[in-house]
Amino acid sequence: MENSEKIKIAINGGIGFGSKLNAKQLATISNYMDEKEELELNTFQQLYVEIPTAKQEEIIEEFTQAGLACYPVGNFVKSLRTCNFCKGEEAEGMPMAKELNRRIAGRPVPITLKAAYTGCALGCGEPMLSDIGVMKNRDRYNLYVGGKAKGKDAKVGSLLLENLSPEELYEVVEKIIAGYAATGKKRETFYKYTKRIGIPHLMG
Ligand code: SF4
Repeated sequence: MENSEKIKIAINGGIGFGSKLNAKQLATISNYMDEKEELELNTFQQLYVEIPTAKQEEIIEEFTQAGLACYPVGNFVKSLRTCNFCKGEEAEGMPMAKELNRRIAGRPVPITLKAAYTGCALGCGEPMLSDIGVMKNRDRYNLYVGGKAKGKDAKVGSLLLENLSPEELYEVVEKIIAGYAATGKKRETFYKYTKRIGIPHLMG
């Protein structure tokens, strides 16, 4: 009997101009959907799709070949939410956003962590309302932490460091996430974690 077990994965078109999917990507996804199945769009610029567990590696490879980015679902760092890079790839730091995403997305953490990037101070990627937010400022980067988008007590994040180079930014963000993964309590949100240990102590 064929194994019908399925696993849910999150997919999107990767980091680029806007949050777009092309026809080939849509066709590739639909190969694994029945007529009555639905795609779920979450608030992280991702789609949830269920694929057969037994074939997940080959399907993820097929999705990747079609230019889709695939991420685990659950208590992981989500793929980087970004602005639309309206002023141009280099000017708005898209390569840096891609590298940051490569380094942090999919890392296990106590509960889902939302990180966001925005290419200028207009902040279309909503970094101030994310657990970890990056805002490009000329050719440097400002880092915000502890934003909270949900609930009546929604809060903007606090500026932790400013004028960082890309390498400095990667290092600090990775250190913060490693600390949260190691010492955050089970299902403790990053917002609560920052309250408990104090923003100045996030980097150890
Ligand atoms: S944050 Fe700036 S670069 Fe990014 S989409 Fe908004 S205006 Fe354009």
